[in-house]
Amino acid sequence: MTNRRNFIKTATIASVAVALNSFKAEAEENELPAIKKSVRKPIVLSTWRFGIQANEAAWNVLKNNGRALDAVEAGVKIPEGDPEERSVGYGGRPDRDGRVTLDACIMDELSNIGSVGCLEFIKHPISVARAVMEKTPHVMLVGEGALSFALTQGFKKENLLTKESEKEWKEWLKTSQYKPIANIENHDTIGMIALDTNGNLSGACTTSGMAFKMHGRLGDSPIIGAGLYVDNEVGAATATGHGEEVIRISGSNLVVELMRQGHSPQKACEEAVARIVKLMNNRKKNLKDIQVGFIALNKEGEYGSYCVQGGFNYAVCDATGNRLIDAEYFLKS
Ligand code: ASP
Repeated sequence: MTNRRNFIKTATIASVAVALNSFKAEAEENELPAIKKSVRKPIVLSTWRFGIQANEAAWNVLKNNGRALDAVEAGVKIPEGDPEERSVGYGGRPDRDGRVTLDACIMDELSNIGSVGCLEFIKHPISVARAVMEKTPHVMLVGEGALSFALTQGFKKENLLTKESEKEWKEWLKTSQYKPIANIENHDTIGMIALDTNGNLSGACTTSGMAFKMHGRLGDSPIIGAGLYVDNEVGAATATGHGEEVIRISGSNLVVELMRQGHSPQKACEEAVARIVKLMNNRKKNLKDIQVGFIALNKEGEYGSYCVQGGFNYAVCDATGNRLIDAEYFLKS
């Protein structure tokens, strides 16, 4: 009798244990896709076709478990240092006075920020922005102040106006008409956002701005919240195109806030572009005259992009490779 009772007791405990185990297994099975979804890292995204090469440099940092901040700085330095790239750093097109003035900003996972605007003679403004972030009590330095600071930090003073850019500027002076044409006059910025193996986000953004702009003009690219924004709890976004329109809607911050509200990176970029479209319409401006593109990345490593009109592309690099993607766009005709 005792034996029988013990047998029943043991059998009952065993079957409860089996049931519990299978319940646990089922629960784990159910959770698996969610876990898988959250491990899409490291990953790096950047604007335009020069993003491919820039991503390679960033990937070298990310694949060795490096910090996203180091990755984005190393990445955007590639087009900055390339005189063939006529819209970023060395070789960038000048303003209407023939001066190459550069804008850049950087933001890390702790919301440390640094930025330079209208900086002349320094090939890598992104590194000066990082120095502003790490070595000053400020977040933004412009013009002569930014240059003096850069020189104290050991950056070399160089002529950034190449023969080609000078030639184009002299040609432009003949008409002196400031009429940037979307996707044709090459004014593209490199914006880069990355998620590292520790799950931390950072971003960088650097440009020579709109060719033949007024001297002293700042675009969106050195403005945290406009050209770039990172929130390590949510995601990161960066912008390219007509900076005035991006600033008007605090573009990159808007994209990140839309992701915080639950939108996917793709949908957040679409909503931000819709906001630009609405304001252009309200102001009776022709949408065909402008281009703005956003790229966005969230904490799960999901990404998206959207722009006003066709022609904008971006580069994505993760464990599956490095590729150029044509962004979806609003203006179909
Ligand atoms: N956003 C840059 C600026 O307004 C230019 C660009 O990305 O095309 O200076």
